[in-house]
Amino acid sequence: MPPVDLQTNAALLKSPPAWIDSTRINKIADNIQSELEWSIRRVTVIWHLDQAAFEKIHKLGPLPRAVALKNKNEIHLGPKVTKENFDTIFGHELVHMVAFQKYKQAIPAWLEEGLANDISKNSRVDYQWLIKQALPTQVTDLAHPFQGDEGRVPLHYAASQALVEMLRDRCDFKNLLRLSVGRTMESYLVTYCGIKDLSKSFNEWIKKKAGQKSSGPIELHYHDQGKGQPVILIHGWPTG
Ligand SMILES: [Zn+2]
Repeated sequence: MPPVDLQTNAALLKSPPAWIDSTRINKIADNIQSELEWSIRRVTVIWHLDQAAFEKIHKLGPLPRAVALKNKNEIHLGPKVTKENFDTIFGHELVHMVAFQKYKQAIPAWLEEGLANDISKNSRVDYQWLIKQALPTQVTDLAHPFQGDEGRVPLHYAASQALVEMLRDRCDFKNLLRLSVGRTMESYLVTYCGIKDLSKSFNEWIKKKAGQKSSGPIELHYHDQGKGQPVILIHGWPTG
């Protein structure tokens, strides 16, 4: 039987595995579309069963499990994407797509990975772990998850997601996103959220959250669902 494509309003999946259906795709896309108030321009989703072929597409080495090629409006999924982790990984990449389709440059680079994890409900931030890490003096230096030392990648994701949580706490985040369209979010941090010094506020936020008792088990965001070795979630930066 020839491979069958699956098309929904949000995505065209080329030869997807049999366990994926449109109900599952719609549920993931609907959540993101409602959070980000946007109708996704249909994204092409390409599945790679061969790791080497997948790495050839993104040239980021063995860590990413999926990538969003924003300019091509394509999401590429690698062989480590499974029935169990598909929803959060696909959701994460769709957030990157909306960031590009709707917000252009409005969402700062230091926030986008965190936003993608936050909205796709990828994980929770482990503040006890985060407070022990050497954070950059300026959080805005968290510009690219694969910049510099590979060991810093988990820190980038955790810090960026913690920044989203701080902004949700400090102001109406949905409205902050609304205000930022066609502009840049940074200009509203002072005027709308009352944050004069982002890095200082962030350090205080981490201290406060790390001091609170957690309500349940915390998964590090870069782990698979509790089994196997740590795997970096994904990444949406390549634009080529
Ligand atoms: Zn990403």
